[in-house]
Amino acid sequence: MLKVVEEWFESQTLEDGVTLFGEPYVDPWLQPNSWHVRGRDRDLLIDSGMGIMSLKDALGALLDKPILAVASHSHFDHIGSHHEFSERACHPAEADIMTKPTDQNTVADVYMNESMITALPHPGYDVREYGIRPAPPTQLLEDGNLLDLGDRVFKVLHLPGHSPGSIGLWEEETGILFSGDAIYEGEFLDQLYHSDVEAYIETMHHLRELPVRVVHCGHYGSLGRERMIELIDGYIASKKAPLCPAEVLGSS
Ligand SMILES: [Zn+2]
Repeated sequence: MLKVVEEWFESQTLEDGVTLFGEPYVDPWLQPNSWHVRGRDRDLLIDSGMGIMSLKDALGALLDKPILAVASHSHFDHIGSHHEFSERACHPAEADIMTKPTDQNTVADVYMNESMITALPHPGYDVREYGIRPAPPTQLLEDGNLLDLGDRVFKVLHLPGHSPGSIGLWEEETGILFSGDAIYEGEFLDQLYHSDVEAYIETMHHLRELPVRVVHCGHYGSLGRERMIELIDGYIASKKAPLCPAEVLGSS
């Protein structure tokens, strides 16, 4: 029997007006990061977690001005609470999934099951009833679009590969990149139904040129530039086609 916990989210205040909302009672491998970013005139929410409990409630006092809920992409573990926010944004290639999410198109069918949570958010919670609610985008974000928060500006980077409409948000001024699942400290997922390895490799070359100071990822801890480059080079090297034994031996 799993214990019932009072607080589902764990928040951590970082520098540059960034607050991380983690979900410690989700299997470590799946635990998503949701990011609140303070601006002068409006705030950003980058991803909204599993949707097991209300992220809007957890944001509490941080909700003191308009907020745009951005989806780095539309997998279930990143858009669970998007329906709670009236302003929602994603890349056009993920808009249909946000509008009509299913267990299949959000990949919940592959990854979500009873073993993925280690506590209950309230007595009687039944993970078999887990599902993602529709959250059609009110704004579409294309590569190069700017999100102006009044005193800071984020640029949308299209980072396809993990999924077709994966995006990152890049703040040149601070060197912060919010990467979603395009890059994180772990094995990249490029074999999902809508993944594209060629596009993923392109995305990695693109990110390698970015003068980042810190990468806030969709999972695990944040990365510095050196570690980002190591992960990128590791991925690219792993995708170089190995010679098959017949070629090495020169047999025909
Ligand atoms: Zn994902």
